[in-house]
Amino acid sequence: MAATIEADVAIIGAGPVGLFAVFECGMLRMSSVVIDTLEAIGGQCSALYPEKPIFDIPAHPEVTGMDLVAALEKQAAPFHARHLLGRRVDALVPQDGGFTLTTSLGDTVRCKAVILAAGAGAFGPNRPPLDDLPEYEASGGVRYMVTRREEFRGRHVVIAGGGDSAVDWALSLKSIAARVTVVHRRDKFRCAPESAAQLKQAAERGEIDLAIPYQLQGLEGTDGVLSGVTLATLKGELRTVKADHLLAFFGLSMELGPIAEWGLGLERSHVQVTPATCETNIPGVHAIGDIATYPGKLKLILQGFSEAAMAAHAIHPRIFPGEALHFEYSTTKGVPVASPA
Ligand SMILES: Cc1cc2nc3c(=O)[nH]c(=O)nc-3n(C[C@H](O)[C@H](O)[C@H](O)COP(=O)(O)OP(=O)(O)OC[C@H]3O[C@@H](n4cnc5c(N)ncnc54)[C@H](O)[C@@H]3O)c2cc1C
Repeated sequence: MAATIEADVAIIGAGPVGLFAVFECGMLRMSSVVIDTLEAIGGQCSALYPEKPIFDIPAHPEVTGMDLVAALEKQAAPFHARHLLGRRVDALVPQDGGFTLTTSLGDTVRCKAVILAAGAGAFGPNRPPLDDLPEYEASGGVRYMVTRREEFRGRHVVIAGGGDSAVDWALSLKSIAARVTVVHRRDKFRCAPESAAQLKQAAERGEIDLAIPYQLQGLEGTDGVLSGVTLATLKGELRTVKADHLLAFFGLSMELGPIAEWGLGLERSHVQVTPATCETNIPGVHAIGDIATYPGKLKLILQGFSEAAMAAHAIHPRIFPGEALHFEYSTTKGVPVASPA
């Protein structure tokens, strides 16, 4: 549901660096709201390598992406930052000395400063290169995720992909869909071995159709209403499968999207900042983490953490004009108590 929110600082991106920015803002008594296109926090750590160990986070000899994100969430928890997930920030407009942000779900966020921690851009699905795709997406014929399993009851569903999502949803939907067809370009699946075995057994029992080795070739239908999916082998052999829905699971990609339109003077998809403050060419908008660049920049999580601290300190005078900011260690001041939003 669309929300209208006011906060001192809007943080665009809930990757590791955006999450640490919540903590740094909170330590300086600045409230924040975090917005991300993904349904879960953690950015690349959660979406691309949740179970891989990271070895260069200070004081963590080894920590998985998932565990690092959980620790950052716990560290920021005392500040009760509002999380707006599953929505993209589409517009950033300077207004009344602050900024108004609007999201793809129609939320409005009013803030006095912005921290852009958007990594390499918003995560979105890898789309198959098919004609007329947007109109089939708009009708819900082509989808990249399942939000309500019941929507597929009694429907003909074509599932494309060879990873965990494709195989897990094929196994889940076979009991309620009229028919499930799994399209994959080769015989091997990149999923948990037990799931691959279950898929094979379900196909042998006739509960699922496997279209292997096939790739998506085209969409059939009228006025955006899907009726079939055309498949092709590498040799060009064609077949069409009846379909009310195509679920395409080809992983995630990142694209800068609307950020490129915000007048931030991008240089090869990165935002140039003043290193000491991480401020961009728009006063009050600071960029940190992978999206920020300056001489000597290292795209490492640890450097993003330091940038979060510098940006928060640089923003403080905007939020508390005229109030002197005395530098204090956390050991001295502890963690300030914030009331829930
Ligand atoms: C396989 C792999 C291994 C890695 N290993 C290491 C390592 O060992 N050590 C290390 O330091 N680094 C490592 N990295 C790099 C590290 O993950 C990145 O430096 C880090 O994730 C950057 O954090 P971030 O918060 O700046 O951006 P991200 O993690 O990219 O998060 C940015 C978030 O912003 C969101 N976003 C972007 N635009 C919008 C918008 N308009 N609206 C809403 N949300 C938006 C995105 O959806 C995303 O969730 C690795 C990366 C990969 C891919």
